[in-house]
Amino acid sequence: MKRLVGKKVFVTAAGQGIGRACAERFAHEGAQVVATDKNTDVLSAWASSHENIQVESLDALDREQIFAAAARHPDVTTLMNVAGFVHHGNVLDATEDEWDFAMDLNARSMFRTIQAFLPNMLAHGKGGSVINISSVASVSRGLPNRFVYGVSKAAVQGLTKSVAADFIAHKIRCNAILPGTVQSPSLEDRINALPGSYEENRAAFIARQPMGRLGEAHEIASLAAYLASDESEFMTGQSLSIDGGMTV
Ligand code: NAD
Repeated sequence: MKRLVGKKVFVTAAGQGIGRACAERFAHEGAQVVATDKNTDVLSAWASSHENIQVESLDALDREQIFAAAARHPDVTTLMNVAGFVHHGNVLDATEDEWDFAMDLNARSMFRTIQAFLPNMLAHGKGGSVINISSVASVSRGLPNRFVYGVSKAAVQGLTKSVAADFIAHKIRCNAILPGTVQSPSLEDRINALPGSYEENRAAFIARQPMGRLGEAHEIASLAAYLASDESEFMTGQSLSIDGGMTV
């Protein structure tokens, strides 16, 4: 079923992991996709084989690049904010720089992209859907060693509610996805960075999830496709957990 024919979706951090899975799913569902990442080597390697995916370099920390992209693509109907980074550590470990970086990439980048793309969504009058990747490590759960990360992902939930409330009458919807632990290249990096054996550390991540397994990026993409489609047009301002039971 092609639910996204006629939509144009702009995705940040689409090079790998959840962002890549979402970009591919959107294209599969018939959308025109602008897949962006600061690492265009990784992105181009897979995306060039999809005829309705256009690849662009975009650093989600760079306000000028974001506004230039919005000017190049005034017909975007759907904005998917994926860019984010996981810092390890508690409140005593965290540095001012880590706090600033987490807030800048994980939360402020969404402020920038929405401020850049929303005026054209309002102007073309077709309505729009903004989808933000938060995390269960946020308002939903306090997880060990996710201090600056959890703060920044909680901010995403507040941002999502605020945008939803302000533009509800303009047919602009804004929702957040809160994944549990999902298999991705950066998860492998996090496992490898911990002391102890790879197997034990991976088992500890799996043990956090009552379903006894990690999530797959395509499972997050399924929810994103629903939020991008008109099937979800009665839903806005929501924080949707998809987490193997972590918040049951
Ligand atoms: P990942 O971390 O493996 O890949 C992230 C991508 O982001 C890379 O392609 C990287 O080049 C790109 N990127 C990094 N900095 C960027 C920047 N400044 N501008 C543009 N692109 C940039 O992917 P993932 O693990 O699927 O995570 C994606 C999002 O999902 C993040 O926001 C993360 O916090 C969130 N999330 C992940 C998990 C998980 O377990 N993997 C769980 C909950 C939430």
